[in-house]
Amino acid sequence: MTRWRVLVLVAVAIMIAAFFAFDLERYFTLDSLKAQQATIAAYRDAHPWSAAAAYFILYVSVTGLSLPGAAVLTLAGGAVFGLVWGTLLVSFASSLGATLAFLAARFLFRDAVQARFGERLKTIDAGIAKEGAFYLFTLRLIPAFPFFLVNLAMGLTALPVRTYYWVSQLGMLAGTIVYVNAGTELAKLDSLSGILSFRLLVSFALLSVFPLFAKKAVQMMKSRRVYSKWPRPARFDRNLVVIGAGSAGLVASYIAAAAKAKVTLVEKHKMGGDCLNTGCVPSKALIRSAKLLSHIKRAKEFGIREASAQFEFAEIMDRVQRVMRTVEPHDSVERYERLGVECMAGKARITSPYAVEIKTPAGLKTLTTRAIVIAAGAQPFVPPISGIEEVGYCTSDTVWSLRELPKRLLVLGGGPIGSELAQCFARFGSKVTQVEMLPRILPREDADISEMVAKRFRAEGIAVLAGHAAKRFLVDNGEKVLIAEHEGQEVRIPFDLLLCAVGRIANTSGYGLEELGIPTTGARTIETNDYLQTLYPNIYACGDVAGPYQFTHVAAHQAWYAAVNALFGRFRRFRADYSVIPWATFTDPEVARVGLNEGEAKEKNIPCEVTRYALDDLDRAITDEEAHGVVKVLTAPGKDRILGATIVGDHAGELIAEFVSAMKHGIGLNEILGTIHVYPTLAEANKYVAGAWKRAHAPKRLLQLVQRYHAWQLG
Ligand SMILES: Cc1cc2nc3c(=O)[nH]c(=O)nc-3n(C[C@H](O)[C@H](O)[C@H](O)COP(=O)(O)OP(=O)(O)OC[C@H]3O[C@@H](n4cnc5c(N)ncnc54)[C@H](O)[C@@H]3O)c2cc1C
Repeated sequence: MTRWRVLVLVAVAIMIAAFFAFDLERYFTLDSLKAQQATIAAYRDAHPWSAAAAYFILYVSVTGLSLPGAAVLTLAGGAVFGLVWGTLLVSFASSLGATLAFLAARFLFRDAVQARFGERLKTIDAGIAKEGAFYLFTLRLIPAFPFFLVNLAMGLTALPVRTYYWVSQLGMLAGTIVYVNAGTELAKLDSLSGILSFRLLVSFALLSVFPLFAKKAVQMMKSRRVYSKWPRPARFDRNLVVIGAGSAGLVASYIAAAAKAKVTLVEKHKMGGDCLNTGCVPSKALIRSAKLLSHIKRAKEFGIREASAQFEFAEIMDRVQRVMRTVEPHDSVERYERLGVECMAGKARITSPYAVEIKTPAGLKTLTTRAIVIAAGAQPFVPPISGIEEVGYCTSDTVWSLRELPKRLLVLGGGPIGSELAQCFARFGSKVTQVEMLPRILPREDADISEMVAKRFRAEGIAVLAGHAAKRFLVDNGEKVLIAEHEGQEVRIPFDLLLCAVGRIANTSGYGLEELGIPTTGARTIETNDYLQTLYPNIYACGDVAGPYQFTHVAAHQAWYAAVNALFGRFRRFRADYSVIPWATFTDPEVARVGLNEGEAKEKNIPCEVTRYALDDLDRAITDEEAHGVVKVLTAPGKDRILGATIVGDHAGELIAEFVSAMKHGIGLNEILGTIHVYPTLAEANKYVAGAWKRAHAPKRLLQLVQRYHAWQLG
């Protein structure tokens, strides 16, 4: 806690303690108010403005400090100032006091709560950002709801202060009027509970559920409106039609078939989509060949005097194709038909929320369906840089058909795809230049992590040009050239082949989204809610087309939610859970991450401790000549709870799994430390980082005592 926080906390604690120590509570009872009414009224007659100001300040103080007595003070407002002035004073004072209590809770506790429940709070904050005002309004309408609890709880969320103020004022108005009015007839009141008769309570309860009903009604009307111009078929041909047979579509259709639904999977190109045909599988196959070459080059490090490799680039690319053919049956029509999925080859177009038209080689076919899952994937983004079409380029879609190794390869983009491919081509013998506009490659990772990869790239002969913005391409004397800008200077980069890897954009056009008016996001993915529903609640989207992540495992994860919600959403819907998402970049060294990294923690102001374990110390890494890299773990301050982990090193993509399970199941570093890891394995690094954390948190006093005990035992 910062000094300011401690000071504020102490000040608030002293004021609250004084209130109870001096038994000030006795002045905030109905009897005391009745007894003092005449005296207070006399003071008000003599000094109306001072009386109002004093009352206002007292009210703000009591509510701001969350002290008991607000109800009696509200009655006093009516008794002393009458209905109109009383209501005005109470309404502003209570809203101001509530906002002060809200701000105090936020200032004192929000960071601590965020550190403890960061990910869960993120979900709550997302809900609050969407509907916080609405929920607050509902809570405020019920005067029986503890006023101070609402203030304190809401202070822990990310609800904007201004929204909190005005919604509180508006929401509390009805209750304020009831109490102030009761105060105008103070003499008739016997108890505080008498103010809220049963009928009045029921009215408030009805009033509070009214917004909920209103919201539901608006939702139903909206939903009716989006569907209004689309006639609903009397019968459906399918329970579900899935568009796209990539990682997302395959899983969605499989889940539907497993749940015995009648499902059709439509694919216009190749089963397996991006991952099998142009993404994960070919890239990892290529990486494997490139790694073997790098090992041969490093033969001396392994005690082998000389080793060389004879290879043809075309044969390596043939191997990549062979690997793809070997994996192909996993995603084949035959396999999915066996699993109960009807597979159709053709281009799908959504013609209504209930119908999908499929252009097959045999002609057009239309299927009516209860629900649709869009899993249409993404494609490489080619930036509109002047001259790019003239120099020509390949992308992650087309690079696999290369049969000749480019002499000089220019890789545009420092993300995972650009980095993986840059290193492969460099290892095969291309002179590779990697250009990245941002200050470093792998910009999503921490600076020290990307530097480890960049350092290795440079050592392998790759020219890593970070901070270089591509300005234009040209052909100069038959030579292809990129003109980039670096620190205000133009830099000339000649090359033979351009590989464009600056990101991938979702496929959102040409298959009916425009006609149905399905909106897209700023990131140009299909807009979905937490349940992966689009504007039409029976049309879902998952995978790269929906974002926000572009990984095979996330596509498959989302697909489960999309399929289950599409089939069973009327009984129960599931929110897609992104709380523990891992990923890896398969460069050498590999970089794998789950949860927060240091940069994000700083950016989001999440307090954390960072523990590192350098892999140059690990026995297995040393035996394998791979003694480099790091395991970096972020934990909540003083706790072993893991907020995130990044691993750089050999097989980092495998090693991260332990932290993924730990985070998913709430396992801390103490438990990882207490788990037996096989010796000698790279996985021991995870235990050692836990050990490093433990040493940093060793109970020093206790150990000193134990040391003395041992010394005493020696006699
Ligand atoms: C080079 C590279 C390496 C990668 N490496 C990894 C990795 O190591 N790990 C990882 O997790 N991810 C990796 N990815 C990302 C991963 O491939 C994608 O995130 C994943 O494939 C997305 O799956 P998807 O089902 O959303 O889309 P896709 O796999 O793209 O599938 C979409 C399918 O929809 C079809 N389609 C589109 N429109 C229609 C239509 N109208 N009618 C019928 N069919 C249609 C397309 O033909 C396509 O087959 C890599 C990507 C690339 C490019």
